[in-house]
Amino acid sequence: MVEICTVGGYNEVGRNSTAIKIGDEVYILDLGIHLENYIKYTQDEDIVSINPQELMDNGAVPNISAISDWKSNVKMLLPTHAHLDHIGALPYLANNFKAPIMCTPFTAEVLNGILTEDKIKLNNKIKSMSANSSFQTSNNVRIEFVHMTHSTPHTVMIALHTKEGIILYANDFKFDLFPTLGKKPNFKRLEELGKENVLALVCDSTYAADARKMPSEFIAKQMLNEVMLGIESKHKHVVVTTFSSHIARLNSIVEFGKKMNRKIVFMGRSMAKYVRAAEATGIAKFTNRVEVLKFSGQIKRKLKKIAKERGKYLMVATGHQGEPSSTLSKMMNGEMKFNFMPEDHIIFSCKTIPTPTNIENRKRLEADLRNYNVRIFKDIHQSGHAAREDLRDLINLVKPKHIIPAHGNPDMLSALADLAGEMGYNKGENVHLMKDGERIRL
Ligand SMILES: [Zn+2]
Repeated sequence: MVEICTVGGYNEVGRNSTAIKIGDEVYILDLGIHLENYIKYTQDEDIVSINPQELMDNGAVPNISAISDWKSNVKMLLPTHAHLDHIGALPYLANNFKAPIMCTPFTAEVLNGILTEDKIKLNNKIKSMSANSSFQTSNNVRIEFVHMTHSTPHTVMIALHTKEGIILYANDFKFDLFPTLGKKPNFKRLEELGKENVLALVCDSTYAADARKMPSEFIAKQMLNEVMLGIESKHKHVVVTTFSSHIARLNSIVEFGKKMNRKIVFMGRSMAKYVRAAEATGIAKFTNRVEVLKFSGQIKRKLKKIAKERGKYLMVATGHQGEPSSTLSKMMNGEMKFNFMPEDHIIFSCKTIPTPTNIENRKRLEADLRNYNVRIFKDIHQSGHAAREDLRDLINLVKPKHIIPAHGNPDMLSALADLAGEMGYNKGENVHLMKDGERIRL
């Protein structure tokens, strides 16, 4: 018998976690933080003194009391990729389980980087397995990683092969036909799985209401190309800000920075962390092309130099959501204050993630920037999530018996359920709208 507990990420976007019980073995897929709740709770705390129970009570991490009776059965922890809403709770919660963590090499590197930086010790072994390979964990279960495209490298869908059929966990992915770094999704394998017996699909529904195919990362690269190379920036300061974990995007930014004939500087802690992981796993090399500055002392000194050499540098900084602790925010005032001149270029290669805190932070950052009369280029971006027509393609490929919408608030989950309804599924019968902490037997 297969039983699924939707632990977190079913009432909200964030703190993703799903536990799957097969016979007497339990597998936990993803253990992430809710970024906004996490920051709200941790900003006044010393990281090492954080209490996991309080993180749970504040909605910052999945509430694993929902599976307390399964605790001793947990066989493996399986994060799908390196985003914090999928791995960020492992440092706080993984010690509750006597089980190894198994993930792709880049994910493992990022996780190890976080543990080292925050001085957290896990008893769990961290093992890595490449995409498009599989591992027999017991007589009853085989774990398979299927290569996917997303906005960070080494993302996989996880197929749990059981005697009752396959459970396919598809959180987060996009079907990118023109990826700018790495390969296309493994459609062939998805098709093969569809010819076997997919008992259930647990599926990303973030953009299920968005009636389109999500445009490729290649389109985002073209958008960057236009603003970085197509618009005159002679003698202007140019800053680009984007997601530190988006290695493909950073790679495009560096490519164009070189063509602009500028010296490239990456500034910020998280930037350094993800760049290190990308290099350690051979995904991309940056340090031969870019100066990576992690600490504020280094950044401060560099900014003084850059200020005197207008038009010579491309600054790539953290702070795309206006986070107060980021480099770009610190450049607005305080010790790192940077004197921008009218018509300097600030490029936001991202979308504002629409939470009240982000909206507020971005509004403040943009207001500060406008005081300098700089040029702001917003939304130079394409999402890493599947939209409605990609989700339809996935369902047609893998032909699941049951669908469990995941990774979203109730409206997002309902949108995927509606799509499934269009495709002949019935709510309650083979499409299951779940809440955090609920269970279903299949
Ligand atoms: Zn993600």
